[in-house]
Amino acid sequence: MSPSLLDDARRRLEMARPEAEISDEAWARLAMPRSTLKVSIPIRRDDGSLAVYAGYRVRYDSTRGPAKGGIRFHPDVGVDETTTLAFWMTFKTALMDLPFGGGKGGVAVNPKELSVAEIERISRAYIAAVADTIGPDVDVPAPDVGTGELEMGWMVDEYAKIRRQSLPAVITGKPLALGGIPGRSSATSDGAFHVIQALGERLTGGAEAPRVVIQGFGNAGAQLASLLVDAGYRVIAVSDSRAAVHDPNGLDVAKLRKHKDETGALTDPPVGREMDDPAELLTLETELLVPAALQGAIHKDNAWEIQARAVVEVANGPVTATADDILDERGIEIVPDILANAGGVTVSWFEWVQNRQGDRWKPDRVAQRLEERMVAETERVARLAEDRGIPLRTAAWVLALERLGEAMDATGTERLYGGGGKKG
Ligand code: NAD
Repeated sequence: MSPSLLDDARRRLEMARPEAEISDEAWARLAMPRSTLKVSIPIRRDDGSLAVYAGYRVRYDSTRGPAKGGIRFHPDVGVDETTTLAFWMTFKTALMDLPFGGGKGGVAVNPKELSVAEIERISRAYIAAVADTIGPDVDVPAPDVGTGELEMGWMVDEYAKIRRQSLPAVITGKPLALGGIPGRSSATSDGAFHVIQALGERLTGGAEAPRVVIQGFGNAGAQLASLLVDAGYRVIAVSDSRAAVHDPNGLDVAKLRKHKDETGALTDPPVGREMDDPAELLTLETELLVPAALQGAIHKDNAWEIQARAVVEVANGPVTATADDILDERGIEIVPDILANAGGVTVSWFEWVQNRQGDRWKPDRVAQRLEERMVAETERVARLAEDRGIPLRTAAWVLALERLGEAMDATGTERLYGGGGKKG
């Protein structure tokens, strides 16, 4: 992730500011993270040697509640990337009106080069290193790129050992057996589906069997493809890191998912035609284009070629700020990531509530609460965009910014203290 991602994120904020009612004080407080922790993670490798990795935990803001955000295991993890992602989480939780702030963490390591036992040692050592700065009321981590249920299980176990008590609400995305919640693994795609359905014709233009192109046939992208097919959309192309598959009449997504599960890739697909140049997938004519793989997938060099009616950002930051301007100029609607992929953190919130209540939520309750929250916030964003004639992205950042500003102002502003003012 390039440092410009933080610039990109801040630029979105700058664009939203003139539309937002926010005090100068609140704005000033958002300029830098509350805390940035860098730790060393020494572990014993399987061959007996010592390896030392760099680990990070950034708490960007916690005015609205404990910081919330994932832990990434990836060689590119660094302080800039972690800060950017924590900044992003701050606005995502505010937009969804969750009682959380924003945080993020990670270890600069390539988990693919390590054994399971080594990854367990890193997971436990990471928690030992940051234990003083996390907690159910302070900062609540979750999985991110390179981590999942397994790592969260080791981490919650390690935290319980350190604190000498069971505190499952310290981490979300845990295995069900350790206090996880049903529906967490499909939460992002379920959330994106509700957002698409709630925006309806605004995205599809009322097309019958609207066409969908999905870049990234992984956890989020493949599950979303199935949901959309079941709802009457036509998924005409999908891709992974190795291949892209196309059929203008609509792909049999179930067959493709089975093929991907069995072979690990979309190469030599049982249905559709494998595209000669996978990059062309992004420029196919379609109603919805769903980048669900990487940040920066749509940039200044391909934004002019996009032939979609709307872009739904399931990945974090898949459209660069420059591409954003181009798509905007061309009248292409963008559903911003802080809304489109917020289903994951919303179900994490349910998990945290469940753990704090010592309860077990049923799948139906999770599904219903998620739909309610996603639809309500989507409608709020769409209404604001319509009322003010601004893009959906700006509207989403305005709402998040105002919620943050309101919380900060409620803790006391210059207006309250200035001129030796008396209460009342
Ligand atoms: P994943 O690893 O399961 O899937 C990613 C997919 O993208 C894989 O199929 C991979 O092959 C494919 N891919 C990689 N490079 C590609 C390329 N150049 N072209 C086409 N495909 C490529 O990850 P995921 O959990 O599905 O997450 C996808 C995106 O959504 C990420 O940006 C992630 O940050 C974001 N996101 C995910 C969640 C979640 O809960 N899963 C929540 C919020 C945001």
